[in-house]
Amino acid sequence: MRVFDAHLHIQPWRMLKPGAYETFKKSHSDFDRLLELADDPRKFLALMDRERIERAALINYVSPDVMGFTEEVNEFISRYCQAAPDRLIPCGSLHPRHTQDPARQMDHLIQDLKIKMIKIHPPHQLFYANEYLHGLEALRIIYEKAQEYGIPVLVHTGTSIFPGARAKYGDPLALDDVALDFPRLKIILAHGGRPFWTEESFFLLRRHPNIYFDISSIPPQNLLKYFPRLEELTEKTLFGSDWPGPGVKSIRANVDQFLEIAINDESKRKILYDNAMKLFGL
Ligand SMILES: [Zn+2]
Repeated sequence: MRVFDAHLHIQPWRMLKPGAYETFKKSHSDFDRLLELADDPRKFLALMDRERIERAALINYVSPDVMGFTEEVNEFISRYCQAAPDRLIPCGSLHPRHTQDPARQMDHLIQDLKIKMIKIHPPHQLFYANEYLHGLEALRIIYEKAQEYGIPVLVHTGTSIFPGARAKYGDPLALDDVALDFPRLKIILAHGGRPFWTEESFFLLRRHPNIYFDISSIPPQNLLKYFPRLEELTEKTLFGSDWPGPGVKSIRANVDQFLEIAINDESKRKILYDNAMKLFGL
């Protein structure tokens, strides 16, 4: 089956703040190789070839306070993906509290840098995904622009273990407001609220036609425990490995585990490839 990994990380790891850098380095014995892969897209494309991964969305986000990532990540991932624009999909980000002119910056990201998805990371950016209702106007502008351009917004839902991250912001229920207030915005719940908000996520996925989710960071062998009615969500589920996240040996290993689960082949095909193609308008 063809594979579109809708959620993996090629990031400028050297930008990490000391605490986050140590946390990341400690959990990756192949840390030097990860730096090399992030330095050279040809090396990463060779890895994708070996592991038979056709396309991938490369996730980046801005989190100066918790992680150390600044708006420079957008230039980084835009340049990186130019090595193979048909295979590498750049995902960028703004931080609504740090960006000067969100409307102009969104235009720049999408028009000039060809960013194809915007990531919001509430536990690492330290606000609720619906905080535009309580004065965070820049967040409203980011959603409005993404809706206008028709590009999806990927929102981290669930916990995070990095120093300084605040888990409460990972509650997906805040996206109930976003789905209602921006009815044409394509919203993707990254990680489906794992580990303890998966029922909320299931509710949101069934309630809102514009909410999707990716299965990244959910070990595939546990996917049906978290989402026993996964087949009802066939059209709204995207495969994502979250590589090189903790516990992900390789993208291929993650794909192979997913192929083992007890759902029908048609659903697997959609989740592994077709849904992402449709969502990115490819
Ligand atoms: Zn991720």
